[in-house]
Amino acid sequence: MLTDSHCHLDRIDLKPYNGDLNAALDAARERGIRQFLCIGVSLENRETVVDIARQYPDVYASVGVHPCDVESGTATVEQLVEWGGAPEVIGLGETGLDYHYAEQTKELQQESFALHLKAGAQAGLPIIVHTREAREDTLALIREHGSTEHAGVLHCFTETWDMASQALDLGYYISLSGIVTFNSAKALREVAKQIPLDRLLVETDSPYLAPVPHRGKSNEPQYVREVAEFVADLRGMPVEKLAEQTTENFHRLFPKARG
Ligand SMILES: [Zn+2]
Ligand SMILES: [Zn+2]
Repeated sequence: MLTDSHCHLDRIDLKPYNGDLNAALDAARERGIRQFLCIGVSLENRETVVDIARQYPDVYASVGVHPCDVESGTATVEQLVEWGGAPEVIGLGETGLDYHYAEQTKELQQESFALHLKAGAQAGLPIIVHTREAREDTLALIREHGSTEHAGVLHCFTETWDMASQALDLGYYISLSGIVTFNSAKALREVAKQIPLDRLLVETDSPYLAPVPHRGKSNEPQYVREVAEFVADLRGMPVEKLAEQTTENFHRLFPKARG
């Protein structure tokens, strides 16, 4: 049993499935993927992701504003707490800081991230954090506003072991995407080996970042199996054990997940 802990089901390419999302999910289900967390990125796609989760018992949703989307509108703590109260919504985000793609909105990103952290602490919901080239500020905001009891996950992790270990100390989980399979990701693979097994998640971040051997193609949830197989190999363990453990971790981090 595998879990895709981070996918954008409202954005994946459904042409190979004649426009049918359920067929894309079936392709994943046939490969042992039993749960999907469909991520909200903006005020605009919030209802869409919640609707998708409402349609499928094995799909959950998160709501939040992505750091690269903060200019399109941010949410208040009250709104996030209210939206987070829906049964399908198991976490808040993705939020966080991206100084690589959106350095110019740094201040607004920090404000928005702080609001998500406060809302998560208030609502008892974990936070899905996107962080890129903003290590110190990300950790500082988590320390200042986050909850260690309902912590969160650093998704699509590409940063250093130093950052990972500080986040682990704050109760955070670390999620690996297809990037770990890329030739260029040598340093990340060293980090991936060190993450404690009970704090590790896997994801596709589909439609982005398809793992090898699908690199360059549109990513989809079924390829979380390739990510899991790669990480299991790297850590010298059977993939089924890694699948089982990462799914157990997912449930510990997101207690609202029904499955
Ligand atoms: Zn992200
Ligand atoms: Zn994402």
